[in-house]
Amino acid sequence: MSSVLPEFIDIPRLAKHRSHFQGSYSLARLTRVHDRLHTVAGEMRFSLIIQYDEQWRITLKGELEAVVIMECQRCLQAVSVEIQQPIALIALAEGQTDDNLPEGYEPLWLEDSPLKLQELIEDELILAMPMIARHDHCPDLAEEVSVLLVAETEAVVEDAPSLPAEEGTRPANPFAVLANLKKSQ
Ligand SMILES: [Zn+2]
Repeated sequence: MSSVLPEFIDIPRLAKHRSHFQGSYSLARLTRVHDRLHTVAGEMRFSLIIQYDEQWRITLKGELEAVVIMECQRCLQAVSVEIQQPIALIALAEGQTDDNLPEGYEPLWLEDSPLKLQELIEDELILAMPMIARHDHCPDLAEEVSVLLVAETEAVVEDAPSLPAEEGTRPANPFAVLANLKKSQ
């Protein structure tokens, strides 16, 4: 397994030796993803195995994962989207057909080989990202809830014995006022 990621990969050559890559790219590097993001932050991790299958086809199999910050389509604020997506590609040379791909595989045309590993992974991330993102609960609603919680906390503090009121300045107990009214009647 390679610990240092190569810039270019020669897929047919790598397939002969069953090559396994594992690594990460910072999202700041993946500029083609940027217009889909609310905030460019974090990284994506991936693993990729390039090998021949039993039918002498070159397969690229692995997985990518990332947490991307997209724009919520409801409140337009930042929303974190967790992405975990398998990678399953069959490399096809010029002149080959993608008619008989195995179930679940997408074609990868080897027009420019060696190709850039980062671009290959970036393409997979773009395909894995949702078209639209939304909060389960938008933060405006969450803020209202927290305001209510703060109000309740303050009410508790007012009643706490650690804040003794001066005799006579304490606001009248409405029930005591009511009792006095009844007495005077
Ligand atoms: Zn939202």
